[in-house]
Amino acid sequence: MSIKKWAIIGGGLHGCTAAYYLLKKGKIRNEDLIIIDPHERPLQRWEKLTGTIGMDYLRSPSVHHLSTDPFALQKYAEETDRKHHLKGRYKRPSLQLFNEHSTSLMEEINWSKSWYQGTVEDLIRNKEGWFISLENGDHIQSEYILLAMGVNDQPLYPNWYNQLHKHQERCVHLFDEEKYGKFKAAPPIAVIGGGISAAHLALKFGKKYPGQVHLIKRHPFRVHDFDSDPGWLGPKYLSKFEKQKSFSDRRDMIKKARFKGSLNREVFLRLKRMEEEGKIQTVSSSIKEVAGRGGGVDVAFESGKNQHFKSIVLATGSTSELPEKKWLHGVISRERLSCAECGFPVIDENLQWAPCLHVGGALAELEIGPVSRNISGAKKVAERLLQYHLNVNSIKA
Ligand SMILES: Cc1cc2nc3c(=O)[nH]c(=O)nc-3n(C[C@H](O)[C@H](O)[C@H](O)COP(=O)(O)OP(=O)(O)OC[C@H]3O[C@@H](n4cnc5c(N)ncnc54)[C@H](O)[C@@H]3O)c2cc1C
Repeated sequence: MSIKKWAIIGGGLHGCTAAYYLLKKGKIRNEDLIIIDPHERPLQRWEKLTGTIGMDYLRSPSVHHLSTDPFALQKYAEETDRKHHLKGRYKRPSLQLFNEHSTSLMEEINWSKSWYQGTVEDLIRNKEGWFISLENGDHIQSEYILLAMGVNDQPLYPNWYNQLHKHQERCVHLFDEEKYGKFKAAPPIAVIGGGISAAHLALKFGKKYPGQVHLIKRHPFRVHDFDSDPGWLGPKYLSKFEKQKSFSDRRDMIKKARFKGSLNREVFLRLKRMEEEGKIQTVSSSIKEVAGRGGGVDVAFESGKNQHFKSIVLATGSTSELPEKKWLHGVISRERLSCAECGFPVIDENLQWAPCLHVGGALAELEIGPVSRNISGAKKVAERLLQYHLNVNSIKA
């Protein structure tokens, strides 16, 4: 059994940002830190998802990335002669540039020396810290833990999905990693969802199958450059949020602040252009009923229209529940971890849920605010963890 100082559960954007900060500035050695993730290498889930939808540019600006230096990505673009990979007034990076920069940062911290490919299935507090059990039967003991499992593994299905019964194989959710990996989209295709992931998918399919793609959403397009007002990155809105002691009120503030199911202007204009060219059709209507027929799906809209699709791709986001319910609920009841009414962790300013048990990403939302799930949230989490680590260990950065 290996013994570590820090164990990070989840090697996605959040887990890797925290690892970068701790290894770069926290004077931790690779052998004292472990990043546990089921994938072979860092950020694989992110790369897969963004690659699958054909996202070419990030929605977030170039100052949001894994490094401790806000201008690291811009410098990287200059050094690699790719300033043209930064788009518009926010210098949004291309996915290719962002991914290559992330890989170079992870290599800088020798990620492979801290990486453990595996899935955590339990966590027990003991005198030395936390005892981690993995699905493969292995165990790891660690003084500090960061839970960074993300919410991209919990697809939110529309109510009508269950009507498909044995025909569910023609309908797949973007977040169902296993099923999507095997899915072969055949036209005519319906993409369900009003947000930026659905829009990217419709653009991608529209290029491949012009005139045979429908983007189906319940509401008119919600056009916002970011998925919350940039005022949430600093004191403009955060000071009021932090003063709020009621976690139900904090959750309400988060709900109001997040532009759910929105897309940025650039993607919106591309969609409109493709629609004008007749390559895709957008439909604003709820779905009333679905039924499998002839290796495809018949869709009846509330508007009264009916349509047959060979494939349906759901880009309807994630459920609003706590991630990793399976084992985390056991830990919550055994360790008596405090949760707000919405089910999410009640944590302190060090993002501590219990002594030496820290959370990041969506799990830290009630402390970090509406940007918590994003790359900017990952930076905020990593900064707080680093500060905590330096304080408790009295290390000078
Ligand atoms: C298509 C898409 C585009 C986005 N674009 C942007 C953007 O431009 N800008 C922005 O700021 N945000 C963006 N986001 C939001 C957010 O930054 C991403 O969702 C990001 O991937 C979240 O990082 P994460 O580390 O929380 O989750 P993930 O990247 O999903 O990583 C979590 C990791 O934890 C692992 N894990 C889960 N359970 C366990 C377990 N029990 N044991 C071990 N490991 C486990 C998972 O397998 C996964 O590898 C986007 C999201 C999506 C879906």
